[in-house]
Amino acid sequence: MKVPASEQSTLLQVQDCDTRLAQLQHKSNTLPQKAELATATERAERLRKELIAAQTIVSDLEREQAKADADVDLVRERSRKDRELLDSGSINDPKQLQSLESELESLAKRQLDLEDIELEVMERLEGAQAAVTHLESESASAQSEVQRLTAEVGDQEAEIAAERTSVEADRGALVGGISAELLALYDKIRADHAGRGAARLHRGRCDGCRIDLPPTEVASLKAAAEDEVLRCEECRCILVRTDESGL
Ligand SMILES: [Zn+2]
Repeated sequence: MKVPASEQSTLLQVQDCDTRLAQLQHKSNTLPQKAELATATERAERLRKELIAAQTIVSDLEREQAKADADVDLVRERSRKDRELLDSGSINDPKQLQSLESELESLAKRQLDLEDIELEVMERLEGAQAAVTHLESESASAQSEVQRLTAEVGDQEAEIAAERTSVEADRGALVGGISAELLALYDKIRADHAGRGAARLHRGRCDGCRIDLPPTEVASLKAAAEDEVLRCEECRCILVRTDESGL
């Protein structure tokens, strides 16, 4: 293939743009804040679930407490009525009196048992409420960490995107000066060789594979016409000659 030397050196600039675009993509993929954000998001989600579970325990215990309170109130009310009846002196039948007294006794015992339950539920409720308070604060700080990192990643991505736009514009302007045939060859090599399609020949070395060319090859490159499109025998790149090629 024969292409004017100026076009070949423009191709080098296109390669520089493509290399920079690949670097930007890599930079975006490997932003340290992205990994931190993933970890923080995972933690925030875990804390959110733990908080919901703790809140469920609190509302269950609140229901349990209301029931325990109601049970105690019921027994107290029953005792109060029995006591009133006993104190009113309206019951004279000894058997009835005895039965009333024994009911009062068992109600008193029942009340003590229920008050124990009430107290125990209250203690558990306090513990569960403390857990909710702790998790609320943990969860809030995890959420704000996620927001902080999201903003940081956003800023970095915006910076990368701005540079990408500018490099793409440069590339767009450059490819306009390259023949379709050379560009097609370049694109094909680039697709097969991890993003590199053209390389400088710099002081007898291919900048693509960074291998010093054997003297025989240097000699044949030296003999080649200026518009001849050369290829590196090693990495197959289009080898572009510059003033510093050492030929
Ligand atoms: Zn090479």
